[in-house]
Amino acid sequence: KRFWYHIHHPEWRAALDTDALAYMKIGQEIGELARQTFPEGVLLPFSPTDKALSATQAALAGDAPVLFEASFAAEGLQARCDILERNADGTWTLIEVKSGVRVKEPDHIEDVAFQAIVLRAAGLRIRDYRLMHLDKEYAHEGGNYDPVRIFQSTDITGMVLETIPRLAADLDAVRALAAQNDAPDFQPNTYCRDCDFREKCHKDVPSGGLWQLPGINVNSVRKLASQGLRVLDDVTSAEQLSPTNRLAYRVISGKQDFTDPELIKQLDRLPGPIGFVDFEAIDPALPRFVGHHPYERVPFQWSLHVIPDADSAQQPEWRDYLHTDRSQDPRIAFAATLWEAVQDCNSLVFYSDYEVTTLKMLRDAGVPYGRELHEKIKAVGYDLFKAIKGKTYWNSFNGSYSIKNVLPAVNPAVSYNDLNVKNGAVAVQVYEEYLDPATSPERRAAIIDDLRTYCQLDTYAMLALYQGFRAAVPGWAPAAVRD
Ligand code: SF4
Repeated sequence: KRFWYHIHHPEWRAALDTDALAYMKIGQEIGELARQTFPEGVLLPFSPTDKALSATQAALAGDAPVLFEASFAAEGLQARCDILERNADGTWTLIEVKSGVRVKEPDHIEDVAFQAIVLRAAGLRIRDYRLMHLDKEYAHEGGNYDPVRIFQSTDITGMVLETIPRLAADLDAVRALAAQNDAPDFQPNTYCRDCDFREKCHKDVPSGGLWQLPGINVNSVRKLASQGLRVLDDVTSAEQLSPTNRLAYRVISGKQDFTDPELIKQLDRLPGPIGFVDFEAIDPALPRFVGHHPYERVPFQWSLHVIPDADSAQQPEWRDYLHTDRSQDPRIAFAATLWEAVQDCNSLVFYSDYEVTTLKMLRDAGVPYGRELHEKIKAVGYDLFKAIKGKTYWNSFNGSYSIKNVLPAVNPAVSYNDLNVKNGAVAVQVYEEYLDPATSPERRAAIIDDLRTYCQLDTYAMLALYQGFRAAVPGWAPAAVRD
């Protein structure tokens, strides 16, 4: 259905979010870097379509050894190739560039197989197929990236040739789908949550779909639909759902909230001083610091709110670190300052295992204090997300345990709305901007303020969650009491 919308109503697509824009930008950067490995290559125009197709035909008839962004149309299909390399025997090598660190099956193979079908139908003889992706062992030496060393080129000819017949058989159905005047009927499922056509597509979809239950997966939704269960009203007994979905069902259908009494006991018993900790990190495809590898995680900021104990009336103490020296690996000072800051904490509260995995990465990378920090968080860490997921559920969580949903439910007074940096994706984006040599000192100063304010609120929000859950009625309570 999404494919149909793309063809018939591209204007209905929602604006791309920060993550999607960043993903596109890095894809472009990597594409440009890949082209540098073929200095003799010719970049062809790729829009408008007529111009792109005629420029490709002219280039094929010429003698350029390598073509970038060549466009083809045949049998009602269109395709564009990242790189086409001319072989001495008159055949071509098709090279697809991907920003990951490995060949992803079946997506990458089907992507190339589709191009192969179109190019073959257009009369091109292709000898082999390759996939260029980042080499995860590449260590950045500073300065410009070495385009030859940062990529790995994998021969995928066998896999593509195997896929072509199956994909070609599917294409008739795809063509028929594209030619339909009306959108195909398609049952909503969990993948609709992030779909950029959802607003239009779901305008007549009844609310209360089982796919909206937190934690439910695609297969469970399909299985329930095959039994005639699509919305909450179709369910007559919680036992029809899997154990992990029953609590949310009971909460929503009973219009009551449930707070796990065990959660409150655990929170009451956390030994003080209690620290509420949060990290920000970048995982750049193209490493930013000397010695770093593609997608290596680089934590650059931490925030910590500390209270003496669970019942203390004292104001929380805020500690933080933001790495501002663009020439130095942020991980070193990040770990050293954090290790000092958590010395007095006998509990460390965080939300999801991101903090634990980040410290594990620091440990594995041999960063000083990485091992000590990882041991400490394993010993005294408390994952609030894990503690509530599937065990505590309020109607106002609105189908998700994401902190974006849980925080306004538990403490509506704490909000990110007035901040310049409102979420982790934007924090990453502005830190990348901070590292960019072209960014002005004034803008950098503003970024520092924005990031510190954001990360401070992140850990204050966690403290607010901690206090909110401790104050909640244990067990069942009418949903309205928290409105
Ligand atoms: S909202 Fe769901 S059904 Fe509609 S196009 Fe998107 S993924 Fe497909």
